[in-house]
Amino acid sequence: MGKKCRDYISELNDFIDGELDPQLCLEIEKHIGECENCRIMVDSLQKTVKLCREGKSEKLPAELEKKLNNILLKRWNEKFGAA
Ligand SMILES: [Zn+2]
Repeated sequence: MGKKCRDYISELNDFIDGELDPQLCLEIEKHIGECENCRIMVDSLQKTVKLCREGKSEKLPAELEKKLNNILLKRWNEKFGAA
């Protein structure tokens, strides 16, 4: 039951942006509390987002968001195998 780690990855950008549905946000927070892998993901994503924002605009360019998601998914697949 419930979502798998991989299901959360696509939501993480919005989660970090604070633009996620509050219900989903809680769900992710709960999962992160229980899952070290996702905690590391969010952590590194947050750092990257912070760096980007310090560099320029408030919001991540869609292109970069997409790239980040791909990197995360790739790492995930390397670790746990492709879906
Ligand atoms: Zn997880």
